[in-house]
Amino acid sequence: MSSGLNQPMLPPASLPGDPAGLARTVLELTRTLGFATAGIAAAAPSTEESRYRQWIAAGKHGEMDYLATQADARVDVSRELPGCRSVLLVAEQYAPRGSPPVPAPPGHGKVARYARGRDYHLTIKQRLHRLADTLRSRWPEHQFRSFADTAPILEREQAVRCGIGWIGKHTLVINPRLGSYFLLGGMLTTMDWQPTRPAAEQPDGLPPLITDSTDRCGSCTRCIDACPTGAITPYSVDARRCVSYLTIEHRSPTLPMPLPHDDRWIYGCDICQEVCPHNTARGWETPIGSDFATSRAAALASLDLAAIMAWDQPAKAAAVEGTPMRRTKLEQFQRNARMLQSRQSPPIPPSI
Ligand code: SF4
Ligand code: SF4
Repeated sequence: MSSGLNQPMLPPASLPGDPAGLARTVLELTRTLGFATAGIAAAAPSTEESRYRQWIAAGKHGEMDYLATQADARVDVSRELPGCRSVLLVAEQYAPRGSPPVPAPPGHGKVARYARGRDYHLTIKQRLHRLADTLRSRWPEHQFRSFADTAPILEREQAVRCGIGWIGKHTLVINPRLGSYFLLGGMLTTMDWQPTRPAAEQPDGLPPLITDSTDRCGSCTRCIDACPTGAITPYSVDARRCVSYLTIEHRSPTLPMPLPHDDRWIYGCDICQEVCPHNTARGWETPIGSDFATSRAAALASLDLAAIMAWDQPAKAAAVEGTPMRRTKLEQFQRNARMLQSRQSPPIPPSI
């Protein structure tokens, strides 16, 4: 559904002091807002703190210093919202299971699927704000804080706690029904909402949105084997070797390692998701969000490297307007393009 949805309506029967009824109401509202699935967990400190701090201590966060400086907040949601009692997580599907890899035409670089649609930071948050406004109008004494990759919260751990899925060996959340091509957002609240549970344990009346968080990776190592830079060890990714980090989050003028030329990614990388057996088509795929089902999103599957090298600021802004790519600097695009071109043709100077 697009972010142009109307304000969701609260059914009259929802009462504070009825956590199951409130959970049912909130989950139904997330469905009317077009999210593919949702879940609720009781607020609690992270159980992944030690693993997270070890990852930071090993320097695997690269130049993303905010992940280190915000570590205390990330492992405790009550730092973001004092008095937080419940956490809602929602999932927005940006590509269906079975979404085929599209080779980049000669002289082009590929764009990760999530980055081709409208900027999810905005579109998911707009819908969550609408949900928060609706809830606030009924319960003004409570607080509701929305996030979509915009607050210091360990969203993947929260998604597992909410029953949305498990964290695969490539460190992304996988849902047995959706696969892993989805984005996460959520809401913290001071209200008590009954946590969602595996479908079999779900109290009567709650919608069957929830699956479970059982790890179904088993002995599979496809993502580890396919990663072109060896960035993955089971359940850990070294950002400094990850093409997605290198092309998007690494801000320095030079990259610490070359970008792979066999599978040319100019923005992000989907390889570990493309090879995952949980992303193969089953014939009953969940519809993707309308912000991703556009002809423009299809056209943004790859970008012309020579055109990028000729961009000035207005040209870059026009080319990636409205997508998450607008957050990335022109210099980063041209650094990435230059590196991908370097083995295809003589290097092109930064300014033409
Ligand atoms: S996004 Fe690409 S580079 Fe990063 S871990 Fe996955 S396969 Fe490896
Ligand atoms: S490719 Fe295999 S190991 Fe990797 S996340 Fe998917 S199921 Fe797990």
